[in-house]
This record gives sequence, C-alpha cells and structure tokens, in this order.
Amino acid sequence: MSDLAPLVVRIAVPSPLRRVFDYLVPEHVLKDNPEAKAEVGCRVLVTFGRREMTGLIVGTGTTSEFDINKLKPVGRLLDCSPLLPESLFNLFVWAANYYQHPIGDALLSTLPTLLRKGDPLPETSRRFWQLTTKGKGLGPTSLKGAPSQQALTDELQNKGKVDDAQLVAAYSRSILSALEEKKLIEAVMVETPPHSLDNILKEDALTLDSGQQQAINSIEDHGFNAYLLDGVTGSGKTEIYLQAIEKTLRYGRQALVLIPEISLTPQTEKRFRDRFNAPLVTLHSGLTDKQRLAAWMSAKTGDAKIILGTRSAIFTPLRNPGVIILDEEHDQSYKQQDGFRYSARDLGVIRARQEDIPIILGSATPSLESLNNCEMGRYKHLLLKHRAGNATQPDWSLIDLKTERTEAGVSSSTLSAIKQTIANGHQVLVFLNRRGFAPAMLCHQCGWSADCHHCDSRLTVHRARSRLICHHCDYQQRIPHLCPNCQGAQLIAAGEGTERSEAYLQQCFPDSKVLRVDRDSTRKKGAMKEVFDTVDKGEPCILIGTQMLSKGHHFANVTLVAVLDADSGLFSPDFRSHERMGQLLTQVAGRSGRGTIAGRVLIQTHQPQHPLLEILIEKGYGYFAAQLLSERELTQLPPFRYMSVIRAESERANEAEAFLRMARQIAESISPPTPLLSYLGPLPAMLEKRAGRFRFVLQVEASKRSLLQSLLSALALQLESHKASRRVRWSIDVDPQEL
Ligand code: ADP
Ligand code: ZN
Ligand code: ZN
Repeated sequence: MSDLAPLVVRIAVPSPLRRVFDYLVPEHVLKDNPEAKAEVGCRVLVTFGRREMTGLIVGTGTTSEFDINKLKPVGRLLDCSPLLPESLFNLFVWAANYYQHPIGDALLSTLPTLLRKGDPLPETSRRFWQLTTKGKGLGPTSLKGAPSQQALTDELQNKGKVDDAQLVAAYSRSILSALEEKKLIEAVMVETPPHSLDNILKEDALTLDSGQQQAINSIEDHGFNAYLLDGVTGSGKTEIYLQAIEKTLRYGRQALVLIPEISLTPQTEKRFRDRFNAPLVTLHSGLTDKQRLAAWMSAKTGDAKIILGTRSAIFTPLRNPGVIILDEEHDQSYKQQDGFRYSARDLGVIRARQEDIPIILGSATPSLESLNNCEMGRYKHLLLKHRAGNATQPDWSLIDLKTERTEAGVSSSTLSAIKQTIANGHQVLVFLNRRGFAPAMLCHQCGWSADCHHCDSRLTVHRARSRLICHHCDYQQRIPHLCPNCQGAQLIAAGEGTERSEAYLQQCFPDSKVLRVDRDSTRKKGAMKEVFDTVDKGEPCILIGTQMLSKGHHFANVTLVAVLDADSGLFSPDFRSHERMGQLLTQVAGRSGRGTIAGRVLIQTHQPQHPLLEILIEKGYGYFAAQLLSERELTQLPPFRYMSVIRAESERANEAEAFLRMARQIAESISPPTPLLSYLGPLPAMLEKRAGRFRFVLQVEASKRSLLQSLLSALALQLESHKASRRVRWSIDVDPQEL
C-alpha cells in the first residue's frame, strides 16, 4: 500500500456510545501478520481511552470525517476471515438500530467470551498420529522392552491414523512424546470429514396423526415463511419440529432450535439426540467459555447440524442454515431484560427472512403478537387441536376460596383430591408462584411488618434458611425473635410460599415423597435432574413448585394439577397480566393427564365468577386470547400500537424523574405529540424503589413503527450527549415485555 492511500477502518467497540470509531491500519500491522485481514467482520485489537480492547471492523475506506493524521493506529489484526457471515452481520446492524443499542456492544456482548477477549478462532482440524516410514519399518517386537510403546505402535499399525485425545487417554502424553522423539510416529492435522447424509435417523419417526400431517404438509422446505404452530399441550409439536429438522438435514442444511431454558427441559435435548445421527451442539449459560466457543465454532463451520440453544443462540453463525424453530414462543425469556434488550423471537423472524428460510414458532399458548401476525397474514397459522396418541385434555374445575378454609394455601377439597390421586397410585403437581415460606412477616401486636430498606417491598420469610430475604435486591437478614418496634414476641409469617405448602403437604402425606421445585430448591447443580428422575420412576408423589414446573416438561403420571392461587394474575396493573395468567394456567394445567389416564385441574380462586377465568376454562386459550386481542384493539395497546419505554433510575429521589422530564421535552421538540404518536409520563415504575434506586419510566407509543424508530434514534443521540445522562442510569426498551 502506498503512503497516499491510508487504510481507515471503522471499529465497533463495546462502549455505551452509539457510534463507531475510525482507526488507521499502518503498514507494519499488515506486515506483522500477513494472513490476517482488515475486512468487515474481522476483529482488531485497539487502544480505546486508556484500555486495550477487542473491536470489530464494521467498515473500511481511505477517508475519515476526522483528521486522518490524528487517527490512532490499530494494534493488531486478529482474524484471517470475517467472524460472522454477512447475513448475520446485517442482522446485528438491524437489531442495534431497532433496539436503540450501541452496535459495538450488540456485536461484542453476544460473541463467545473468548473471542471477545481476543483469543484466536479454534482449529477446525484435529490432530491425529500416524507411524513414520521409520515406524512402519519396525519389527513386530522391536519395542518389547517398553510394552506401552509397543502397544501404541501396534495400534497405529492396525488403524493408520488415531486421534490425539484418544491416544492420550489410552496411553499418556509422555509415551507419545517418547515415540515422537525416536521419530517413530508423527502428528498430522486432519479436517473433520463432512457428516454423512445416510442414516440420519437413529430411530424411526412417529407416524403422524392427520392434524400433524396437515401441519407438516403446510410447511414449505424452502424460502422464507413464518409459521405459528399453535397446538394444545401434548399435541405433538415436538414431533413436527423433529420431522421438519429431518428434511433440513437431508438437504445438508442446519437447524437452529431455540427453547426457553435447557436445564428445565432435559427431555427435549434427549428427544433430539435420540432421533438423529447428526452432530448436535447446545448453547446455554451452563457451558464453560471453551465449550461455548467450540459449539459456536462448529455451528459456524457447518459441522454441527443441529444447534439447540436459549435466547442468545439466535446470534449463532450458521454455514448453511435450513430452518429456525422457536419453541414456547410466548415465553418471556426470549426478551432480554437488560443491556441489549432484543427479542429473540422477533429477531428469529427477521433472521429467517434474511436467510430466506422457514421459521416455526410453536406454543400451546401463543402470544397475542403472534396471533395477530397470523390474522394480518404475516404468519401462517397451523393448528393442532387434539393431544397426540390416546391422551385427552384435562378437566378443569374452580374452587371458591371465599367458602372454603385453607391451610398453608391448600383448601380442603384440594387436599382430598390429592389424597385420592395418591391413593390411586398417581402423581400430583401443586402450583404456587411464590417461593419462600411466607411473603411477609408481621407483628401481631403493633402491626409492624418486615420491609426491605432498599426497595418498596416486603421481605420474604425463608424458614429453612432462618432468613428474611428481599426478592427484588437479595438483601438478607436473620429472622428476628422479637418485634423490633414493640419488642413483642408475636411475630407471624403471613401468607404462603412453596416452602410452607411443602411442609404442610409433607405433614399430611408422611409416606409420600413431596418434591419442591423453585429457584431455592434447585440452586444445587443436578437438583432438577434428581427431581425429574424421581418423578419419571412413576411412583405416587407430590410435586410443588413455581412456574419452573410449567415449562414444557412431560410428566406422564401426573393426573392432578392444583393451582393454589389464580388471583394474582387477575389484578396486576400490567396490560399483559391477563395474557400471562391465561398462558401460565393453561401451561400448568397442560402438565396433567399427558399419559394414558385422564387428568384434572383444580383452580383455587376468590373470584370464581371472574369472566376471564370462565372464558379460559369454558372455551379454552384460543377463544380467551381472541377476546383479549379485541380488547387490545379497542384500547389501542400493543400489538395494535407500537410501544417503547425509556427508563431511568438514580439513588437520588428526583433525578431520574427530572431526567425523563427533560427527555420528554427533547422528544416533543423532535416529534410533537399527535394522535399518531403519544407520550405518557414520567411515571414511577411499578416498583418505584428497588435496590436503593428510584425508578421512573416514560412511555412512548406510536401507530407506526417507523414513527417511533426515527424519534427514538434522534432522541437517543441527544440524550447520550447531554451531561445529565451521566448522572442517571437510563435505557430505551423497544417492545417492552414489562412496564
Ligand atoms: P407438545 O410438544 O405439543 O407438548 P409432544 O411432542 O411432547 O407434545 O408430544 C406429546 C406426547 O405424544 C409425546 O410423548 C410424544 O411422543 C407423543 N406423540 C407425538 N406425536 C405422536 C404421534 N403421531 N403418535 C403417537 N404419539 C405421539
Ligand atoms: Zn410489634
Ligand atoms: Zn430489596
């Protein structure tokens, strides 16, 4: 390169600023590592501020809007080829714009940690050992003084090449070294051979019933289409995924499968592994950095044919994508709630369109957004109305808590239903979405209650750990013996959590196993698996737990589901609370009667006449959701209007609110309020004080995405350059899932 044409690269770094930075690539850097490239999608090492960090090239050129002579040089080029395929790179650009997040952070925060730290891409070829010419010429017993060396050379004599790891495991590194020193063996690098397309199936596919057959026939193998597979719990959606994947594999392509949580659904992973003879990798939070990078890499090279992961797996590079499947598409875990606040479901659809491949969104309780997308003709609606095999839908009934006594949250009719189920040799699932022993501690004499000093909330009693714990900030203290206010001794644990109901049920059923599943009981690694293994043995037992139990697990022998408190979902101020309640109740109920015996569902409520509960129970989730959707249209809430919230929080009470007032002023000067674009707030957040910070929100709604997008982009830049923005924590949440 001549001195006249400097190479300028635009670098995205993980900085909170919504911009990229120009650097020069000096000639010596190119010469240092002639194989490395200064191309879009490659990493570079740069000095940013005073720190050295890994950045990603997002543009190249020979000019800069800054003085070229003042540009800093990049330190080192790190890659010989772009890390991300172009279509994925474009997805990041799109997502950073849409979610108003700095591109550098979006790109780098989703890369495997080791790549973010600047590590080289792992080798895709593997090290094998073979005999040298000298080694091949050895007589059959020439090493008999060293039996291990003899055995190893014998093995190579028989097999030709053998994998390094395999030999180290069978012999030892020192034996390999000794033979290498004698020039009897040598290492060779071998690319992993492409996976064979014969024998893709390890077990036969099930014969589909007519509903399933119709669904799979509707799914086109090629080109972009979004499908909503709307099938009741147990209708065999997973079988449809498996058969769609099989087709993709036969074309030599890869399948990207997203599920909400891998540890809660070990069966799902097992079903995929049992079905296919194809390399499958999982991507989830339980991996070490090295494992994660290896999985990511094998997806990128195309070695992995099935990639099973949670939310962030949507950003996995794929050599040869064929289909995207997103199970339990209504699940909130697909939306990241901090930092880069993307929705993996929505990005999945965008990605499928960019890659020109089908995406299947599956759920027994689809989100109102997706149902509306079907109505608008954007998604194809595939319905599975019946359970697969011989299983039938469970019977629901309501228990009126106004007329029944409860103990530890369990009413007497629920208790007798449990008794009967256990006596019949079946299993029971008790659902209570509140962990801990009791949600409050009160003084019977003076009315004092144990509150968190850092949050607007009460402390939860955790009796097993003798602690009061705040579920919002994790503040903890010992359970007091006397009231700190009046020194009285009558402190009571009010209300019930899973721990209390568990203790009570264990007392009522001393001969049965009572298994609790919540975030406290499953803290220990493997605890969840232990519970599943016990339940899968099929002996009568009682499972009690929070929504962790509602997620996709197939309990064949559960025939009774009891929901201890259905009311909390009826009265939350969040506009999505009814949708969530319907989904949760339907999903929990769906754990019942999945085997050959019919199931029952008992719902305890103070509001047995509540019209929404009645609709849900009498008419089912589909009808219920249609009702909610028409309400949303009347009240002009998402998905009929587009929403975003700007959040701010500060330790000083007035600062966050003042910041948002300013934000609103700036926003109104960019786009004055009209019927098409409106502002609400600043308002205190639902939990105004949390972890010592005062939190406020400013809501912006628009009738068109584009209106909202252009406003937010302009607003974000103005806010970030304003000095007040450094005194508060603030963020923009596009399509928020929580208010
Ligand atoms: P979903 O994912 O819709 O909840 P699953 O795919 O887990 O449902 O299916 C529920 C049960 O029905 C599983 O045990 C599955 O093996 C079985 N199943 C699914 N499809 C069929 C079929 N066509 N014939 C027989 N059994 C089936
Ligand atoms: Zn008191
Ligand atoms: Zn707290």
